[in-house]
Amino acid sequence: MSDCIFCKIISGDIQSVKVYEDAEFTAFLDINPVQPGHTLVVPKAHFARFDDTPSEVIAKLYQVVHKVAPAVAKAVDAEGFNASLNNGLAAGQEVFHTHVHIIPRYIKDGLVAWPRYMGENKLEQVGQKIRAALKEVVAK
Ligand code: AMP
Ligand code: ZN
Repeated sequence: MSDCIFCKIISGDIQSVKVYEDAEFTAFLDINPVQPGHTLVVPKAHFARFDDTPSEVIAKLYQVVHKVAPAVAKAVDAEGFNASLNNGLAAGQEVFHTHVHIIPRYIKDGLVAWPRYMGENKLEQVGQKIRAALKEVVAK
């Protein structure tokens, strides 16, 4: 996609610090890291969002994450990492080319993700709706 910043990184039109590359995927350092070592793993083919991305690509993408994430953690002496993906504007996605963030973590890094929902949980009702929706999604 001509106006996609990650496609430009993949083609070499925009510079990046690459840490991994194979025929279908690449990984490079985030230009605005949450922590040093913050890495993005990206399929070379352009898919805007996780939910547009074929499941075979997602499976391989996470195989690459499984390889790269421990190396990132080792390189920066991290005690853990988050491997996370933002799908859609509401979820904080800024670059519409599917990617997984690998964010090194430390016990005392002070980062606080995911404040908890304070409303009524309605676990049974929500669970029932998700099971119904899943039947429709799987039937597609
Ligand atoms: P997201 O919000 O999940 O779409 O994440 C997009 C990420 O891409 C952000 O963390 C940005 O800092 C990062 N980013 C944007 N432009 C570049 C770039 N040219 N090189 C490396 N990372 C970038
Ligand atoms: Zn792209």
